[in-house]
Amino acid sequence: MSARGFTTAILHSDRSKPIEHGSLHKPVHNSVAFGYADARDLARVFQGELPGYAYGRQGTPTTSALEDKITTMEQGIATVSFATGMGAIASTMMALLRASDHVVSSSFVFGNTNSLLGTFEQLGIAVSFVDATDVACVAQALRPETRMVFVETIANPRTQVADLAGIGELCRARDIVYVVDNTLTSPYLFLPKRVDASLIVNALTKCIGGHGNALGGAVTDCGLYDWSKYPNIHDSYKKGDASRWAALQIRKKGLRDVGATLAPEAAHHLAVGAETLALRMDRICANALKLAQYLEAHPRVRRVYYPGLESHPQHERAKALFRGAGGLMAFELADGIDCFEFLNRLQIVVSSSNLADNRTLAIPVAHTIYFEMGAERRASMGIADSLIRVSTGIEDEEDLTADFRQALG
Ligand SMILES: *Cc1c(COP(=O)(O)O)cnc(C)c1O
Repeated sequence: MSARGFTTAILHSDRSKPIEHGSLHKPVHNSVAFGYADARDLARVFQGELPGYAYGRQGTPTTSALEDKITTMEQGIATVSFATGMGAIASTMMALLRASDHVVSSSFVFGNTNSLLGTFEQLGIAVSFVDATDVACVAQALRPETRMVFVETIANPRTQVADLAGIGELCRARDIVYVVDNTLTSPYLFLPKRVDASLIVNALTKCIGGHGNALGGAVTDCGLYDWSKYPNIHDSYKKGDASRWAALQIRKKGLRDVGATLAPEAAHHLAVGAETLALRMDRICANALKLAQYLEAHPRVRRVYYPGLESHPQHERAKALFRGAGGLMAFELADGIDCFEFLNRLQIVVSSSNLADNRTLAIPVAHTIYFEMGAERRASMGIADSLIRVSTGIEDEEDLTADFRQALG
């Protein structure tokens, strides 16, 4: 939007549009319906000839204001917000894929995304799961009917870093839509546009909201993909500039058909959280690096997975691409230490799911978020029974290390 710095641009984003009553925060518009003095204007809004709002499921002024901030942060051209990160991913895929299309996905993706792709397989969309840390594996899986490649920047929970630049080059050369889930890095640590992403997903619930008080998701179009080459755009959305067709189809069809609309109240919480994204991420990354180094040196810890550590297989890639290595790490306890007893000894760190909360959270992966997939699948994904995922918060670093020190004994 401008040459302003990351945080300045977010803080002053609402003022780039007319300000209502001088309010420095975009007001929360809870209205479901929007009325017009001239009924013809209502028709024009429905027909896309007049900008405006008609019914809350398709968006409100409050969600639009948040979408503008995310577009600015990601340096994209358009963003559509959703009730959750999963709502964003599911609605985007529903809007853009058809039966007998093929998708290539990283095999290291968020468990619920993995589950969603399984559902799409049942609906006649073929999915290949590949090791996305190596672009050659992605290239090998491509078929003439491949429509989309889906990866995460840093995978949850084992922190593999995809070959983001290599895959971007490949997709661009083959005109394939490249979807990057930027949730673990956030647009402050990484801009997927730099690696030729077509669409970017952010679970706003995590880094961007940051406070663990609102769910939300978004998909942003980087403006790099020429949608006139994509076979699944309906004629009614082929209006104007082709770079905007997909965002229009995702907004119209995705929000209408799935209905995973972000509530205005939640949009407001997320927009307030976004103001401090850069401040929080700097602190979260610093805390995570110190904690990961402490754990790696500890005799009662077998292994630590964190892209900021030199021992991480994609450390150099992470350093080249990301401003910081993020707040997520996973570690295995040494043999004979019960992960539940260890977690119960922690006094500051909370046993809880969620990521990028201001509070540090820890979860025993195999027994919770990866329980349903079974032991065999876990083993194939390198998820040990003692694996603990930690999402570092913004506590004072000495308190965090002290808590882990006493709990490890
Ligand atoms: C949490 C998460 C999601 C889903 O977000 P929700 O808001 O919980 O639906 C998607 N992708 C990644 C990488 C996540 O960590």
